[in-house]
Amino acid sequence: MPQSDSLFASLGLMPALCTRLAQLQYVQPTPVQTQIIPAALAGKDVLAGANTGSGKTAAFVLPLLQRLYQAKHSTQAVKSPAKGNYVACLILVPTRELAQQVAASCESYGQDLAPKLKVTCVQGGVSVNSQMLALRGGSDVIVATPGRLLDLINSNAIKLDRVKSLVLDEADRLLSLGFADELGALLKLLPKQKQTLLFSATFPEELNELTARLLHQPHSVQLQSEQQSTLVQRVFTVNKREKAQVLSHLLKAKNWSQVLIFANAKKTCDRLAQKLEKAGIKAQVFHSDKGQGARNRILTGFKIGEIDVLIATDIAARGIDIDKLPVVINYELPRSPADYMHRIGRSGRAGAAGLALSLISHDEYQHFKLIEKKNKLRLPREQYAGFEADAEAPEDCPSRLAKPEIPAPGMGKKKRKKAVSKATDTVASAVSSNQEPLQAAQALVEDAWANWKKK
Ligand code: AMP
Repeated sequence: MPQSDSLFASLGLMPALCTRLAQLQYVQPTPVQTQIIPAALAGKDVLAGANTGSGKTAAFVLPLLQRLYQAKHSTQAVKSPAKGNYVACLILVPTRELAQQVAASCESYGQDLAPKLKVTCVQGGVSVNSQMLALRGGSDVIVATPGRLLDLINSNAIKLDRVKSLVLDEADRLLSLGFADELGALLKLLPKQKQTLLFSATFPEELNELTARLLHQPHSVQLQSEQQSTLVQRVFTVNKREKAQVLSHLLKAKNWSQVLIFANAKKTCDRLAQKLEKAGIKAQVFHSDKGQGARNRILTGFKIGEIDVLIATDIAARGIDIDKLPVVINYELPRSPADYMHRIGRSGRAGAAGLALSLISHDEYQHFKLIEKKNKLRLPREQYAGFEADAEAPEDCPSRLAKPEIPAPGMGKKKRKKAVSKATDTVASAVSSNQEPLQAAQALVEDAWANWKKK
């Protein structure tokens, strides 16, 4: 059998990178790496439909490091080294955590290159001054979130006009998080001649326009991560009021080494942690109310196994790489079907076994059907013994509670539908997050409707 480093070498990677991959115990290239590395090494533009977990980071980082290294050591470069606050390779990502993770991968894969390439991480939530200092004298690679990068460009801390390679990682997420304007502004500052690699799990309309503008005769790859074969998805139907109990029962009964639980609102995360604590289960929460320092500490604690149960909003749904995370639980379903895939993709990564479990209550049944349809899934509904869901939605289920109560005098059908769905959501989150009495939940419905009417 060929050695792992020779398998990577056969893709065209240089020895210093191949030996590092062998140290990291990468036995063989993943499909996305096999398809992308040779094209990227040849300087081609790349358009890749690949999920996190597929090994996509190495697929773009490895060839870019090699090209940078070789360009730096070519005789021409030695004669006229670039000075000033320039950057050769720019990697744009949607979240701070992903920025740190990709920068760490660049450092790790490039650790045996001599001399080393300079990698700078530019993300919000940390001091601008330290980043300005880090950017002095330019960088070989910058991994950045768009907002902070623009701030630093405006303060002349960095210039983009010598960028040779651009990567847009999780491009769909960059757009869906509202970075379209920042992205537009950044792209205008980049030179026309450059290599562009674009990675995205999904391809919404707006992204197709961007790819058509940005990429020139790209090498196109459409891959799914290996999660299909290694990740088991299960769905338990439960009564909404029993969700927290089912969860603590599962956590106690199953003896999982680590679990990542997703809820939709920060409050729900906090309250769920309190409920689990009462049941004797220690859990940490991870959401945007936490400062960047705390977020880093919690994430590191979870990655190294100091934290067993983490309850998070969707900020943890993308990009975050936790080695061999065995279980992901949807305590609540995400609104977007794409986010369902991103959440469950935290487990079963790079061929490891994983379990994604969703607890769905009556008011989520319809939405789960939509998630299945959009993601081309069909999963059997299961009952959790001792906590079987009622056949009909119980009296206190938001799906029964909200709809008949919406006042709608003189409202058109479309507007009414919108008001109903907004109010239903409000009640759903009130009930799921704090189990307030139904009158309070109903008051929230009326508030939601009144607010909507004001707009
Ligand atoms: P990514 O899809 O880039 O987030 O990578 C998912 C995980 O797979 C990361 O933990 C990588 O370190 C790991 N990985 C990437 N490529 C390989 C490989 N060829 N063999 C084993 N693990 C890999």
